[in-house]
Amino acid sequence: MQIVENMIELSKRLQAMEESATIAMSRKSRELRSQGKDVISLSLGEPDFNTPEFIKDAAKKAMDDNFTTYTPVPGYEDLREAISEKFKRDNNLDYSADEIVVSTGAKQSIANVVLSLVNEGDEVIIPAPYWVSYIEIVKVSEGTPVIVNAGIETDFKITGAQLEAAITPNTKLIIFSSPCNPTGSVYSKEELRDIAEVLKNHPQIVAISDEIYEHINFVSKHESLAQFTDIKDQVVTVNGVSKAWAMTGWRLGYIGANKQIAGACSKVQGQFTSGTCSITQKASVAALKADPAVLNDMVSAFKSRRELVLGVLNSIEGLKTNVPEGAFYVFPDVSYFYGKSYGDTTVNNSNDLAMYLLDEALVALVTGEAFGAPECLRISYAASEETLTEAMKRVKEALEKLK
Ligand code: PMP
Ligand code: GLU
Repeated sequence: MQIVENMIELSKRLQAMEESATIAMSRKSRELRSQGKDVISLSLGEPDFNTPEFIKDAAKKAMDDNFTTYTPVPGYEDLREAISEKFKRDNNLDYSADEIVVSTGAKQSIANVVLSLVNEGDEVIIPAPYWVSYIEIVKVSEGTPVIVNAGIETDFKITGAQLEAAITPNTKLIIFSSPCNPTGSVYSKEELRDIAEVLKNHPQIVAISDEIYEHINFVSKHESLAQFTDIKDQVVTVNGVSKAWAMTGWRLGYIGANKQIAGACSKVQGQFTSGTCSITQKASVAALKADPAVLNDMVSAFKSRRELVLGVLNSIEGLKTNVPEGAFYVFPDVSYFYGKSYGDTTVNNSNDLAMYLLDEALVALVTGEAFGAPECLRISYAASEETLTEAMKRVKEALEKLK
C-alpha cells in the first residue's frame, strides 16, 4: 500500500489546492473531542437548529411517492417554479424556470459557474475578506484570483472605485457574498448600485452574487445585485437552502442566471454529478414555498447570540471588531496579540492564535488567513447561548494571558 501511494503523483491542480480551513478546523475539533477533550467548536458555519418538521414531512412523502430515481439535471420543474416564485417574492427578481439550475449546494453552483466561464489566466476579482472556497475554485479552474482588500474601517466592503481600479482586459468575473461570510457585512442598496454602475461599463464581466445568508439579516431587507436591470444579465444570483432552512446536510443550492450561463452550468453538472437528490428536491419545494416569516425566531436567536459574543469581545483589551449586520459570524481584528507569549507559546499570526486558542482554551475558531485577512479570526456563533457563554469566557481568559 505504502509503495503504491509513493508511486502515484497527484495532479498539479490538486497539489495546488488548499484544504478548506473551515472543514479542517471542524475535523480537528471532532478528533480532539473523540480523544475526550472538551473542545467547543465555533469553526463551522452551520445552523445548530433542526430542519423544520414540515420540510422533513415533505421528504418522507417524496420517498413514499417513489421520487427515488435520477432527476432532471437542472432540477425538477416544480422546484424550479418554486425558486422562480421565491426570487419574485423575496427579491423582486424575474427568473424563469429555464434560467434556474439546482445543484448539490451553493458551493457546487459557484464551481459550475466558474468552470463554465473561466479560461486559463482569466482574472477573477475577489474582495477580501472572502469565503474560503472562492479562491480554490478559481485556482482549480486555472483562473487568476485578483484580491481587492477591504478593511474593518469600511466595514469590510469594497467600493465601485476599488472594483474599477482592479479591472483589466483579462477580468472575467467578480465573486462576493452579502451578507458576507466571514465578516457578516451587508451591502446596502446604494453600495450595490455603486458596484452595478461599474459593471454596466464592462458588459463582458460576470458577477457571482452569493446570497446564501439572505434571510439572516438583522437590520434591513435583503438587497440583490441583480435588481439593477441594466446589469441583470451579467449577474449570477447564488442561493440555497442550507443556512436559512437548517438544511446543510441535504445538499441543495441554486442559481438564477441568463439562459447561456444556466445552460452551461447544466452541461457541467450533467457530466459531474447529475441532478441533486430527488428527496431533497421535494423537501426544498416545501421550504421555498413557505413564508420566510417562519424564520423570524431563528433570526432573533442569532441576533441575541451576536450581542452576547460582541459583548465579550468588546470587553477584551486590544480587540477591534465591526458590528456584523447579517450571517452568523464575527470577524475581530486580533493583530494586537501578535508577538505576545504565554509560557512557551508565542503567537505571531492568526494561524498561531487559532492553534493557541484550541490548545489553551479548547475553543476552535478559524484563522483569518483562510479568508484573506491575516489580521483577523472568525468566530461562528451558530451555537447555543450556553455554549457561546462558556466559549467566550475561555477565549477571553486565554487572550488575557498573552503578554
Ligand atoms: N457560500 C457561502 C458564503 C457560504 O458560507 C457557504 C457555506 N456553506 C456556501 C456558499 C455553500 O453553501 P452550501 O451548503 O449550499 O454548499
Ligand atoms: N460555509 C460554511 C463555513 O464557512 C461551511 C463550511 C464549508 O462549506 O466550507 O464554515
